[in-house]
Amino acid sequence: MIISRKIVRPINDIDLDDPHTDSSYRELEPLLNKLRTQNAKVGHQLDELKQSKEQLELIIGSMSEGIIIADQKLNVVSYNPASALLLGSSAFTVGQNIYGMNNSDDFRKCVLDALGGRRSECIIRIGSGERNIIASPAKSMERVCGVVAFVMDVTEKHKLETMRREFTANVSHELKTPLTAIYGISDMLASGMVRAEDVAGFGGNIRSEAERLISLVSDTIALSKLDEGTGADETEVLDVYAIAQDVLKRLEHTASEKDVTLSLEGESVDVNVNKTMLTEMLYNICDNGIKYNKQGGSLEVTVGKERRNAVITVKDTGIGIPYEQQGRIFERFYRGDKSRSDKIKGTGLGLSIVKHSVMQMGGNIRVESIPDKGTAFIVELPAMS
Ligand code: ADP
Repeated sequence: MIISRKIVRPINDIDLDDPHTDSSYRELEPLLNKLRTQNAKVGHQLDELKQSKEQLELIIGSMSEGIIIADQKLNVVSYNPASALLLGSSAFTVGQNIYGMNNSDDFRKCVLDALGGRRSECIIRIGSGERNIIASPAKSMERVCGVVAFVMDVTEKHKLETMRREFTANVSHELKTPLTAIYGISDMLASGMVRAEDVAGFGGNIRSEAERLISLVSDTIALSKLDEGTGADETEVLDVYAIAQDVLKRLEHTASEKDVTLSLEGESVDVNVNKTMLTEMLYNICDNGIKYNKQGGSLEVTVGKERRNAVITVKDTGIGIPYEQQGRIFERFYRGDKSRSDKIKGTGLGLSIVKHSVMQMGGNIRVESIPDKGTAFIVELPAMS
């Protein structure tokens, strides 16, 4: 017994955290060497594990999507700040039940489905926003041991989808009206029911309905290009005054038909934008200023520089816009009552294209109008210094 204790003592004396080789027993040296390499290996692996844990925490912590991990009893083991923010549960702490994050029926069902082994998805409302929840079972050795839930903000996505759906429905409706008219008139012409002297009149009707179709299609294409953010990549330094001059020149004929006087005041101001976008934007506003003007009225364009902006004012002496309609004129397909009743041609898309373009050029637009007196559109664009 004493002998065996004596033999084993040097082994017992080894400090496993720091095995030295200077043992009195040379025979122990290989064992000590092995222990030392093993220690170094374990230490290295622990460092690596700590590092990847920290990396993971950093990634999850900085994500804008929420992640919640709960155990089999649905107590939360871990969650990132985004999940609490997205679900509006700032007072939540680890260890609480997952329903403390959200207690809606849809959320509960989603979590329970995941606990039952099925991936589940739902949309829940938080205030005026919408959140997409995707809950999946967390498995260990093929057995469900908890739930991992992802939380994503889908408010904007849903708004865009609704807008797109409404837009498609509106376009289809607006396309159908002129097409039905064209079909009806051409049907009458084809059946030989129309007297020879009336043919020209009906032909004119077909042409004006076709014109309406063309402007509707061009406006829709312009809007979808703006929505996609394409077509404005190429920018160049342009003098707003010179562009306004070109636009007014193009509109001379339209203005003379309505006896509207055109004028341009101000100074040269350089901006760095897409030429087509700036030209079409100005054309649209000026065209409206003539279209909604009174016979013998005037349209005045002023270009100036205020602080760091080019300021373009397009002022007309037309029918004006009732106060309650002023907030709606930039909406897609919105047309003022008077524009409809007076049968002034238009698609209701012009000003939404204008607004979209101005925003894309980094500027802003506002309207000032007095019914029966006239309207002014004021556009500000970032000027070149
Ligand atoms: P559209 O001219 O095709 O109807 P817009 O989007 O260009 O469509 O304009 C929307 C509405 O804003 C018009 O229907 C009209 O009622 C009003 N509006 C626009 N510009 C003027 C203006 N200069 N004067 C009076 N009303 C205007």
